[in-house]
Amino acid sequence: MMSEHNPASLRRASVGVKVGSVRIGGSAPVVVQSMTNTDTADEIATTEQVFQLARAGSELVRITVNSLEAAKAVAGIRQRLDDMGCHVPLIGDFHFNGHKLLTAYPECAQALAKFRINPGNVGKGKKRDEQFATLIETACKYDKPIRIGVNWGSLDQEMLARIMDENARASEPQDAAYVMREALITSALESAAKAEEIGLPRDHIVLSCKVSGVQDLIRVYRELAARCDYALHLGLTEAGMGSKGIVASTAALAVLLQEGIGDTIRISLTPEPGGSRSREVVVAQEILQTMGLRAFVPLVAACPGCGRTTSTYFQELAESIQAYVREEMIVWREHYDGVENMTLAVMGCVVNGPGESKHANIGISLPGSGESPVAPVFVDGEKTVTLKGDNIAGEFRQIVDNYVREKYPRKAG
Ligand code: SF4
Repeated sequence: MMSEHNPASLRRASVGVKVGSVRIGGSAPVVVQSMTNTDTADEIATTEQVFQLARAGSELVRITVNSLEAAKAVAGIRQRLDDMGCHVPLIGDFHFNGHKLLTAYPECAQALAKFRINPGNVGKGKKRDEQFATLIETACKYDKPIRIGVNWGSLDQEMLARIMDENARASEPQDAAYVMREALITSALESAAKAEEIGLPRDHIVLSCKVSGVQDLIRVYRELAARCDYALHLGLTEAGMGSKGIVASTAALAVLLQEGIGDTIRISLTPEPGGSRSREVVVAQEILQTMGLRAFVPLVAACPGCGRTTSTYFQELAESIQAYVREEMIVWREHYDGVENMTLAVMGCVVNGPGESKHANIGISLPGSGESPVAPVFVDGEKTVTLKGDNIAGEFRQIVDNYVREKYPRKAG
C-alpha cells in the first residue's frame, strides 16, 4: 500500500518520451532498463540475452552497435525477439561511428526504438558537428527518440577546456570537481539544444550525466534536474561488482529518486564470473519496490537469523521462496491483477516470527533451536495451519499458489 508520503507523488515534472511501447518521464512510472554484454554481431547470443533480461523485467534493453556486423545484426535480433513473443524495445548504443552505421543500415535505425549517443564520442572539431547532425537527422527521419548520455570518462575535451578557461577567468574560480560537474551538465544541455535546433522534438530527448562517485552523481543530477525538464536516465557508471556495486548504486539513486529525480534507471553492475546479467534488473526493481515507487514481484521479508537458528533451513526457505515467486510471477502477471503487491515473511523462530508473519499476506514462523519442530503459517494475519515434516517448503509454496488463485482477480481474456 502506497503511503500519502509516497515519493512518486513528488516526481519532478519532465517531458514524456515514447520509446516504442514504453513511456519515459511525464506521468509514467520510473522505467527499468538494462544492457547486454554479448557481441551484438552474434545474433543468437544477443537475442537470448535480451530475452532473458526482458523476462527478468527489463522494460527497455540497450545493445552496443559498434561495427558494421553489429549494425547488420540488429534487424535480425528484433525479428527473432518478435518471433519469440518478446517485444521489449531495443536501444542502440553508438560511439564514434554511429553516423556511418545508421546511414549504412537503415534497417538498423528502423529496428531500434531509441538511439543512445555520447557527445564526447561523436567526433572532433568540425566533424563532430557534422556527425552529430547526421545522428540527429537520422533520429528525425525514423521518428526515434535519443538519449544524450554524457559520461565523465569520455567528456568532450574541447568543451571541458572551454569551461576550465571560463572558470580560470572568473573572479571567484571554483574547484576542479565543480568544473567537471559543470562540464557534464553543459555538454548534455548544449547537445540537447543543438538536437532541437536540428529538428528533434523535445519529447524525443532523454538526458543522462553519469559519474562513478555517489556524491558527485547526486550533485550533478540535482543541478541537471533544476536546469531542464528533459526526461532523465539515472545510473551510477562503473558501479562495480557484487555488494559494492549494489550499495553504491542504491545509495546514489535512492537519494535522487526520493527527491523525485529520475525517469528511468539502470544499475551498471559488473557480473561475477558466471553470474547472471539479469541481476542488474532485479536490483533496479528492488530499489524501486523497496522505496514504494513501483511493485514488480512479491517481496519476501526475512529475519537475519541469530543464535536461535542453528540450521540453514530457514535461510534456504527464504531464498527458495523468493526465487519461486520471481519465477512464477512471469505467469501470474499475465493472469492475475495485483499479485506483485503480495508480501511474504519467512521468520526463524517464535521471538518475532508470529508477529512479523501476521503483518505479511502469508508468513511462516520456522522453529528455532530447541523449539518444537512445527511451523505455523499465517494468512492475512490469521493462523491457518501448522506445517511439519520433510516437505514444509513444498507445502508453503502450495499455500502461496492457492492464495494467488483465490485472492487476486483474474485478468479478462
Ligand atoms: S526472529 Fe528469531 S531467529 Fe530471527 S533474528 Fe529474531 S530471534 Fe533470531
